[in-house]
Amino acid sequence: MLDRIRVVLVNTSHPGNIGGTARAMKNMGLSRLVLVQPEEFPSGEANARASGATDILEAAVVVDSLEEALAGCNLVLGTSARDRRIPWPLLDPRECAQHSLEHVKLGGEVALVFGREYAGLTNEELQRCQFHVHIPSNPEFSSLNLATAVQVLAYEVRMAWLALQGQPTKVEKLETTAMLDAVPVTADELERFYAHLEQTLVEIDFLDPEKPRHLMARLRRLYGRSGVSKLEMNILRGILTETQKAARGELHKRRHD
Ligand code: SAH
Repeated sequence: MLDRIRVVLVNTSHPGNIGGTARAMKNMGLSRLVLVQPEEFPSGEANARASGATDILEAAVVVDSLEEALAGCNLVLGTSARDRRIPWPLLDPRECAQHSLEHVKLGGEVALVFGREYAGLTNEELQRCQFHVHIPSNPEFSSLNLATAVQVLAYEVRMAWLALQGQPTKVEKLETTAMLDAVPVTADELERFYAHLEQTLVEIDFLDPEKPRHLMARLRRLYGRSGVSKLEMNILRGILTETQKAARGELHKRRHD
């Protein structure tokens, strides 16, 4: 599906930006790059900036005109760093991704068009696009680096694509301890804990069994509220055991002093 979305770079001056674009595309699962009259291509700098995405550069199609680059496209989206004078249907990157995927889902071809580093796209080029896409950057410093702008759009395309596939955007790793941490204690484990807690509190003279003063009820309310996990319960039981040991040691010492 993503192979029906092409990235078109018009008249790019810096080959590094072509490499950066290839890398951004491959990271997000896009593969089709079309270059309209690049100033320098193929280029070592482009390869270097592409890191492991040289396959995208090798498969890149170089053409002489925007018209050729857009051949067969049903939806053309032109990016712009600033508002132009002619009002035009405008999308943000998220909407751009949604529109793009709606088209490719129906078997359409989509082009995302990016302009020159120093001058962007001309008005004539922008008028070839059904929609303009603007990344809502700081209005006082609105122009992103070309490859960075590609990255933003490609990321949104990926997020929309993952959502469409019902694929998760994060894979949570449940390790053994993490799993224990996620499982709440059972009622009987809590009861055993309360018994242990009460016994410990008596041993350290915090709780007077003759005058308990609702202490255990209040502690039950506190622990009951906190949704203790199995792992946390192990910690609490460990603390109680060590407290008892320390208290018994102290008692032993006092008796022998
Ligand atoms: N001075 C140019 C800047 C071009 S930046 C101008 O004012 O148009 C190079 C390309 O990066 C742009 O043509 C566009 O394709 C993309 N780009 C940069 N910033 C962008 C933004 N905020 N929104 C959308 N595209 C942007």
